[in-house]
Amino acid sequence: MRFRSVLISCVVTLGAEAQAQSVVPTPSAMQTIREQDLRTDLFAMAGDAMRGREAGTLDEMRASIWTAEQLRKIGLAPMGEEGTFFQWFNMRRTRLSTTGSSVRIGGKPFALWTDIAPASNTAGDVVGTTVFAGDGSDSTIDVRGRVAVVTLRPTSQGTRTTTNTPEYRAVRQGITMQSGALTRRGAAAVIIVADSIGEMMFEAVAKLQSRGAYTVIGGANRFAPAGRGGGGRGGRGGGATQAPQAGPILFAHRSALEQLRQDGQGVEIHLRSESFDAPSVNIIGVVRGTDPVLRNEYVVFSSHQDHDGVRYAVAGDSIWNGADDNGSTSVALLAIARAWVKQPSKRSALFIYHGAEERGLLGSLWHAAHPVVPLASMAAVLNGDMIGRNHPDTASLLGIQPPHRNSAALVAMALDANNRTGKFVLDSLWDRPTHTEGWYFRSDHVPYARLNVPALFFSTNLHDDYHTPRDNPDRIDYAKLTRMTKWMYLTGWIVANAKERPAIDAGFQLER
Ligand SMILES: [Zn+2]
Repeated sequence: MRFRSVLISCVVTLGAEAQAQSVVPTPSAMQTIREQDLRTDLFAMAGDAMRGREAGTLDEMRASIWTAEQLRKIGLAPMGEEGTFFQWFNMRRTRLSTTGSSVRIGGKPFALWTDIAPASNTAGDVVGTTVFAGDGSDSTIDVRGRVAVVTLRPTSQGTRTTTNTPEYRAVRQGITMQSGALTRRGAAAVIIVADSIGEMMFEAVAKLQSRGAYTVIGGANRFAPAGRGGGGRGGRGGGATQAPQAGPILFAHRSALEQLRQDGQGVEIHLRSESFDAPSVNIIGVVRGTDPVLRNEYVVFSSHQDHDGVRYAVAGDSIWNGADDNGSTSVALLAIARAWVKQPSKRSALFIYHGAEERGLLGSLWHAAHPVVPLASMAAVLNGDMIGRNHPDTASLLGIQPPHRNSAALVAMALDANNRTGKFVLDSLWDRPTHTEGWYFRSDHVPYARLNVPALFFSTNLHDDYHTPRDNPDRIDYAKLTRMTKWMYLTGWIVANAKERPAIDAGFQLER
């Protein structure tokens, strides 16, 4: 992880609130949070039998049923529809349709997704002729109104920590940059021919792009955060940012170069778009509070049960298990729930597993718009995403510095809890608006924070296995995960038993 070398520890002075809150003692039930339970649960939830839990597939349903069954066994009360743990919602999926779409070059048909892969979701019709523009670097070649053919120049993107493998990122970003440049030069459509790395990644590009994009109709935020709109991180596999007039972008096999480099061939591109609904689900349970008044307020523990499913293989493994992302928090919530049932708090504790987070925070957008308890009764949302990796002594808490902080009182409680549990050195860089990953905006606390619910995001940050098939349960630091779990637990416990619930900061306004 490249940011490890530039860690800056965050020394936050504990204010008066923290001193006051430390009167909430650590409950003995915290000792029931055990490393062995976290391990057992995570090997089940992120094992190959769950097939990566992809939203909108039976695999997410299987994982959701498993999760709900754990909550039932632990003794939570269901808070979903009709006495179940399930809150259903529909995702709207939009993708290029194989039916009705066609590509012909020089009179020869190219089968969609196998012979040639659209590299964006742009639909449309283009009839024209080809012009070969080499690798695209010679800007004197006139591509205006033509179908520009170029050879792929993958970028060297080994340095940026983000979704997918470095090879995939290099190819995707090469496609984006080259097609963007040719579109700006007036090309009606762009065909990019794979080089050797591109050829290795051809199936991956086709598989991810053919999934299309997802949104949720009737969710909380009309404006999805930048970079997350509809697709989610790694969700749509697209990611090509194009001007509105951009034409189709096609990715061709290396073997097609001999034909495609001939200028003046007739091209007919017809790409049709289709939209349909696919179900996803939030899983919600509650441990009722013991105080007759405060039990009508809730501390919310939040995770997401979905991950990226079965995708392209890396070293022979095609199941993207998502052990850290976000099996880690999901099993942490099970452990927290066990402790909570053993020793309930004054306020109630609501446990929410959001579906389709990887598709663009869709489950949390839905639940924030259709909450099972009033938003105003939520004392805090404590969301975790990826809490079991990297250096044992460091972690991130996001939402603790302006402009992301929306409750200084809640921050003080979480820092107090850290001092009494994990004692992590907090890496403050990831919470900054200048952080290149925009990490604060990439998990399920965001829709709640936008609606003025005090919210925090616990994470141990990105790593090289993030959104690859290597994010497996055997790579988790279980001792660290246990400490992270206890930290989330105790933060929630303090919120749930404090005399005053954490207040929202005046003038809270996210930068996007
Ligand atoms: Zn993820």
